[in-house]
Amino acid sequence: MVFHRNTLLELLDGVRTFEEEVYPEKKDLFQSLAYDQNPPTLFITCADSRISPSLITQTEPGELFLIRNVGNIVPAYGNMVGAVASAIEYAVGALGVKNIIICGHSNCGAMSALINLTTNPDKLADMPTVRRWLHNAEAAAATIGDLRAEDVGPKDVRDLAEANVRLQITHLKTHPIVAKALSRNELNVQGWYYDIKKGRIYILNDETKTEHTVKDAISILRKNNPPSKA
Ligand SMILES: [Zn+2]
Repeated sequence: MVFHRNTLLELLDGVRTFEEEVYPEKKDLFQSLAYDQNPPTLFITCADSRISPSLITQTEPGELFLIRNVGNIVPAYGNMVGAVASAIEYAVGALGVKNIIICGHSNCGAMSALINLTTNPDKLADMPTVRRWLHNAEAAAATIGDLRAEDVGPKDVRDLAEANVRLQITHLKTHPIVAKALSRNELNVQGWYYDIKKGRIYILNDETKTEHTVKDAISILRKNNPPSKA
């Protein structure tokens, strides 16, 4: 049985452990971060509680600028003035991030909801905001054939999650500040799929519509001799 901090008391007990044990061990790091941040990476992922960006990338505080929402969605530029667009502008324009990752994941509730959106919209009747939000991912569902909620298997949900990451990368590139940085070769954009059960990340190749293991992606990056900022 996995231990969960179910109560507020247990949650605060976790904070006490941070203050008394974790912080002292990393005091220098936190002191160095006290007045400034200079994260090299904007990491966009689902709000799903099972994803720990710092854990899966083995990064420390100060390294990932995060955007999280239901379904790791990036509305196309101009459609929605909101948290996602402003965080992207801030990350690229003010912080000068060099990498943007959009990370989808296995068994994503938003992807299941997206399937219902097209096949069984009544199921989302009590979540009108989620329903409207998921319209930003509807084109992903359209690319993987006619899905009927009752026939959907794990592979369909994975295909949809990957199609959604690719779609959101397309949306990301409609943001002028991203387009500008890409045109100047100042930005790396990559789509990931995180398999929670296997503990594996797959790197989605946008051009070939294939995916690579992290090991392969590292070899390809090294072979192509990317710029030092990669
Ligand atoms: Zn999710």
